[in-house]
This record gives sequence, structure tokens and C-alpha cells, in this order.
Amino acid sequence: MAKPKEGKTNSGEQMHYSVGALIEKDGKYLLIDRAVAPLGFAGVAGHIDKGEDALEALKREVGEESGLQINNCEQLFKEEIDWNWCSKGVSSHYWHLFKCDASGELQRSERGTKSIGWYSEDEIKKLKLEPVWEYWFKKLKII
Ligand SMILES: [Zn+2]
Repeated sequence: MAKPKEGKTNSGEQMHYSVGALIEKDGKYLLIDRAVAPLGFAGVAGHIDKGEDALEALKREVGEESGLQINNCEQLFKEEIDWNWCSKGVSSHYWHLFKCDASGELQRSERGTKSIGWYSEDEIKKLKLEPVWEYWFKKLKII
């Protein structure tokens, strides 16, 4: 299995790199109900593996988790988040968040996903979001 790309935070702690895809279609956003911690509804996301760049990781994660293909994407944010822990025990992640258009047929990943679907802004306001996605949606003033 591929290993996450690793680095150090400014304060010298171990850090991973992550990508996230905010995929929008007809005013709705693609969200996954995560089956693994941290739990909650989240956009398609994952680690950048060693040897990958952010865009390669984004295309791979979107394909694995949703079955969709990315057409266009634009980077919205890149920032270090020191409270976003992962199941590998690392609490800091340097995120690249992209907004994307995608096409293809939606297919749920058996790995780590309870469900996948499209949600309106009103619906997203009522969902229990994974904390980092709550942060992104608030930052984007979607919720
Ligand atoms: Zn990690």
C-alpha cells in the first residue's frame, strides 16, 4: 500500500498532506458518509501519497471514492490544519482543497464509505459533517 507523503509542521511535528475535492453539480455537492474516523459527511478526500503531486492524488481519490472523473478543477485553498488528525495517528495535515467538475457514473467505494450522494446547501446545513469539511463549508460561506 502506498505511504502518505510526510513533512514537518513549523513547530516540528509530523505532518501529512491531503487533497479534497468540492464537486458541484446543479447546485448540489458530492458528499460521502464516512465509515472510518473521523466520522461525518465529507467531500472526497485523502492523503497525497509519496511521489504524487496534489492533482494526481485528487484524480486518484475521486476515482477510487466516487467512480467519477475530474474534468476541470481550481485550487480554492492550501493551508496547514493542525487539528485535523487521521487514523494513522498524525494530527497535522497540509490541505489542498479544489473545486471540481466531474463526470461519469457515481459508484460508492466499498472501502470506508457508508453512502455517497448529492446534497443541497440546505441539506448540508442539517448534516453532521466531518470537522474539517465543516471548516471548509463555513470558510466558503456555503453553511
Ligand atoms: Zn494523515
